[in-house]
Amino acid sequence: MTVTASVNTRIQLSVKGASQETTCGTSLASGPWEFDKGMPEYGPGASVADAIPANSPVQSQIPATYREASDEELHERIVAAKKTLGDSVVVLGHFYQRDEIVQHADYLGDSYQLAVAATKHAEAKAIVFCGVHFMAETADVLSNPDQSVILPNLAAGCSMADMADTDSVEECWAQLTELYGTEPNAQGKVPVIPVTYMNSSAALKAFCGRNGGIVCTSSNAKTVLEWAFERAERVLFFPDQHLGRNTALSMGIQLENMPLWHGRKALGGNTEQTLNDAKVILWNGFCSVHKRFSVSQIEKARVDFPGVRVIVHPECPMDVVLAADENGSTDYIRRAVAAATEPTTFAIGTEVNMVQRLAAQYPQHNIFCLDPVICPCSTMYRIHPAYLAWVLEELVAGRVVNQISVAPEVQANAKVALERMLAAKPSV
Ligand code: SF4
Repeated sequence: MTVTASVNTRIQLSVKGASQETTCGTSLASGPWEFDKGMPEYGPGASVADAIPANSPVQSQIPATYREASDEELHERIVAAKKTLGDSVVVLGHFYQRDEIVQHADYLGDSYQLAVAATKHAEAKAIVFCGVHFMAETADVLSNPDQSVILPNLAAGCSMADMADTDSVEECWAQLTELYGTEPNAQGKVPVIPVTYMNSSAALKAFCGRNGGIVCTSSNAKTVLEWAFERAERVLFFPDQHLGRNTALSMGIQLENMPLWHGRKALGGNTEQTLNDAKVILWNGFCSVHKRFSVSQIEKARVDFPGVRVIVHPECPMDVVLAADENGSTDYIRRAVAAATEPTTFAIGTEVNMVQRLAAQYPQHNIFCLDPVICPCSTMYRIHPAYLAWVLEELVAGRVVNQISVAPEVQANAKVALERMLAAKPSV
């Protein structure tokens, strides 16, 4: 069945008992301001069990005029504010945002596509990034110094990005360089190079820039690992173990050469021998949204819909990726659906807002999310229209709120790692 109601509408109906569907947290139906007062975890949704770092940004309470406004009123206020602001603002919406936000976005895309889109609008004084914290940081690194990048809700972090903090990675690096040394081998390769997924803080991108390392996205992870192996014997990959493992496995690297590094433990909980044999050292991070997908969901989809085409994101665990027909980034998934010429049933393993939107956009196909429970990315979900209306109306009043600013020395080193990624070319 193709469902076209928005994810938020489905959650509201489920919580009221007006549908048969279930959600992973009934509090998802509430306004995020209920959780912005400060709570020990990320709020309702898949990442509710993940511990939020103590120094995470906290969103102050927004005025009641926004919290109490109806959906229709918020919509009209956003439209009016955008009209007043004209070209002086550009609104970016991530694929995983709710529809009620995406309809106001000038661009829809993944984190890197959106950061690049922002650079094409030099006339915009403000870039409103409807995504999560690390994405706004990347936009700040790549945009002009006179542009302000705004995150409508400062509490919209990313539980995966937060799993690799700078201190733990620096400590890991100190242990690895002590074990391996820093001298290149006879082929001129250094012992280890750091590779960070785009889903990481600007500070960790800068760490890679300073230490000969590089950034990757889920679209180019293989190309980036090839780049790294031309220069190093090994790779330290953070924060997502699954993207690292799935990519390395597709390159023929054996599982026994991919030890997991547990932060704050001596040698990450490994022996010297294991680390000496390692090709890819995987940080113990994961995405709680993609961790929900399972082989049994795929098996059920194959029974219910013989001939179903199963596509999952490489942030899913390895057994899920191996059981799927294809795996790829959000952009890969979007293009695969767009390119299907015959009516097809797609079972998709990525965030439900994006799957829902594809289902609405391509009614000739039967498109559904592998996870039967409605479980959006809870931190993306914090970008409620009330926050978007607030930051835009503040801009109309001449005030910039919720600006994300990356320190100049961090920007410079992060840019080095990002530029290495842009220069990396796939092997023929
Ligand atoms: S879907 Fe996962 S990786 Fe993406 S922002 Fe949400 S928690 Fe982070």
